[in-house]
Amino acid sequence: DGLLLEVDDLFVEFHTDDGVAKAINGVSFDLYQGETLAILGESGSGKSVTAQAVMGILDMPPARITGGQVRYCGQDLLTMPDEQRRKTRGPEISMVFQDALSSLNPVFPVGWQIAEMFRQHRGMNKSDAFERAIKLMQRVQIPAAKERVKAYPHQFSGGMRQRIMIAMAIALDPAVLIADEPTTALDVTVQAQIMGLLQELQEERQMGLILITHDLGVVADVADKIAVMYAGRIVERADVYDLYRQPAHPYTKGLLESIPRLDLKGQNLAAIGGLPPNLMRIPPGCAFNPRCRYAQPLCTQDRPELREVLPSREAACHFSEEVLNG
Ligand code: SF4
Ligand code: MG
Repeated sequence: DGLLLEVDDLFVEFHTDDGVAKAINGVSFDLYQGETLAILGESGSGKSVTAQAVMGILDMPPARITGGQVRYCGQDLLTMPDEQRRKTRGPEISMVFQDALSSLNPVFPVGWQIAEMFRQHRGMNKSDAFERAIKLMQRVQIPAAKERVKAYPHQFSGGMRQRIMIAMAIALDPAVLIADEPTTALDVTVQAQIMGLLQELQEERQMGLILITHDLGVVADVADKIAVMYAGRIVERADVYDLYRQPAHPYTKGLLESIPRLDLKGQNLAAIGGLPPNLMRIPPGCAFNPRCRYAQPLCTQDRPELREVLPSREAACHFSEEVLNG
């Protein structure tokens, strides 16, 4: 049925000297083949931590997964044997990070780094692996790939480096690709090109694609569904079009109202007053209540669960009906 990934009631804590930060507090979502899901939120909302938990790159102190499952094709990644997990994460579920320069190894040519993946995981010989690396560099539209296969990361622009990261991430034909703020470090024109490339590759390979972003504007044209995160929870989930047309959560509504300010890079969330909560002291009731213009006394007492507010629309707000109608 094409169901690839199921994140089920995930909890993650960070243990620090100052206390326990509750980074993820019961997150669930599904990802199907050929689907693009955007996970949207401010920094500290838990969107990156969710991706890291799926990739298994935080399961060491001080981060602790304290509950839930992450199932890939029905099998829980959090409990499966190491050997099987190594064959899944990386080859089957792959990730692109924000900062290509620190993800690439500076002392090896980029083509060598791509070729290594084919040598290690596919047992190819050196010349075949290099052939494949060049093809892949051409596929992600690196100009003069044949000549540049021996160039080093610092010899490429930021956008070209991100293309190389994408090439590495898709080299082994993953079923799921997770991109964490893949364009945040790039200028607007290059952002659009990289998003376009991700969308092309997703359609061509029918991958499940997860786009993690703080920037609604960047993912609008690419995503099918959006999950909006706040204080480690999903507070709204909908098809992109529905969410844009009629948000059901006050936080989403605030994000949408701030979109005309997207030209002011980094200030696009300014329309919502206040700051995200300290994850060591998440407000009781609805975590958004100190910033919410719809808040009522109930909101400081009772935490709203994610519930269906319209057909195939979910929001975690006591007063979604008012938000939808206002
Ligand atoms: Fe605002 Fe209350 Fe809804 Fe939370 S539950 S988003 S505080 S109206
Ligand atoms: Mg992040």
